[in-house]
Amino acid sequence: MKNILITEFMNEDSIAILRKNFNVKYDLNLYKDEEQIKKEISNFEVIIVRNKTQLKKTILDNALKLKLIGRLGVGLDNIDKKYCEKKNIHIQTAKGMNSDSVAEYVIGSSLYLIKNINFFNSETKKGLWPRSSFTSNELKDKILGLIGFGDISKKVFRLAKNFGAKVISYDPYVDAKLKKEFNVIFTTFDEVIETSNIISIHIPLNNETKNLINSNVFDKMKQKPILINTSRGSIVNENDLINAYKNKKLSGFALDVFEKEPIDESFYKKIDDSFNCILTPHISGVTEESNKRISEFIANKIIHFFD
Ligand code: NAD
Repeated sequence: MKNILITEFMNEDSIAILRKNFNVKYDLNLYKDEEQIKKEISNFEVIIVRNKTQLKKTILDNALKLKLIGRLGVGLDNIDKKYCEKKNIHIQTAKGMNSDSVAEYVIGSSLYLIKNINFFNSETKKGLWPRSSFTSNELKDKILGLIGFGDISKKVFRLAKNFGAKVISYDPYVDAKLKKEFNVIFTTFDEVIETSNIISIHIPLNNETKNLINSNVFDKMKQKPILINTSRGSIVNENDLINAYKNKKLSGFALDVFEKEPIDESFYKKIDDSFNCILTPHISGVTEESNKRISEFIANKIIHFFD
C-alpha cells in the first residue's frame, strides 16, 4: 500500500475514502512544523496540503518516494513548481472547486461596502439614526473591473450581471474563444484601474504580479473605487493601500489575503472602526460545501493516479 501524508485540514469523509486504498497519516497541524515534515516526507508517495505547508526545495530534497502533491485549493505559491517538474512530481490542484465560494464573497463584500453597511450598522447599534448624513449606492450600473479572467472571475461575472453591473476585465492571456463566450469588455490594465467603481483581483501570485497594485496604480484610480483582494496578499502593497484609503483614492476595501498570514499587527493596527473595510482570515474559498467538494475531488484524483 502507498502512503499519504496530510498536513492541513481535509474533509473527514474523503480521508475515510483514502484510507480504504492507502496508509494515511493525517495531522492537520503538521504544516506548523517544517522540521518534522522534512524528517517524515521520505516515507510518503503522496502529500496533501493547503496553502500553509511550504513545499520548497529544502523539503522536497528529502521526498525520495514522492510522486504526487494534492493541493486542496488553487494557488501554487507555497510549492516549488519547477523543482517538482524536475523531480517528476505531479501536482494536482482542485482548480474551480472553490470558485463559487470566492465569487459569492466578492459580490457579498461589494454590496456590503458600496452600501456603507459597516457605518450604518455600527451607528445604529449605538442608538444613532444616521439616515441622511451618509450615502449608500447600488451595484446596478456600476463598473466592476476584474483583474484576471479565470475560474473565479467567470463566476463573479455571472453573479454581477444579475445585479446589472457592467463587467470589464484585464487578462492578457485569455484566448479569442473565451472572449467570444463571455460578454465581457476586455481592455487594458490602466482602463480597468481608471474606470472601475469596484476592482476585484483574481490572478496568481508570481514575479509578474507581486506588488502589482502599488502607489502608482492607486494614483490612477479615478472613480474612488472599492478594492477587493481574494487572490494573494503580496499582489497588493498594504502600506500603499492604507495611504490610498486615507488620501481618499479608495472608498473601501475587502481583504481576504495578506502579505503576512496570520495578519500582522503592524498592518491591522493601522485600521480603525471608521474604515469602510472588511478583513477576513483567508476564508473566501473555504465553506463547508467547498471543503467537501475540494477534498472529494483530490481524493478521487489520487485514487485514479495510482489506478
Ligand atoms: P485561474 O488560474 O482560473 O485564473 C487566473 C487568471 O489570471 C487566468 O485567466 C490568467 O490568464 C490570469 N492572469 C495571470 N497572470 C495575469 C496578469 N499578470 N494579469 C492579468 N491576468 C493574469 O485561477 P482562479 O481559480 O480564478 O484563482 C485566482 C487566484 O485566486 C488563485 O491564483 C489563488 O491564488 C486565489 N484563490 C484564493 C482563494 C481564497 O480562499 N482566498 C481561493 C481560491 C483561489
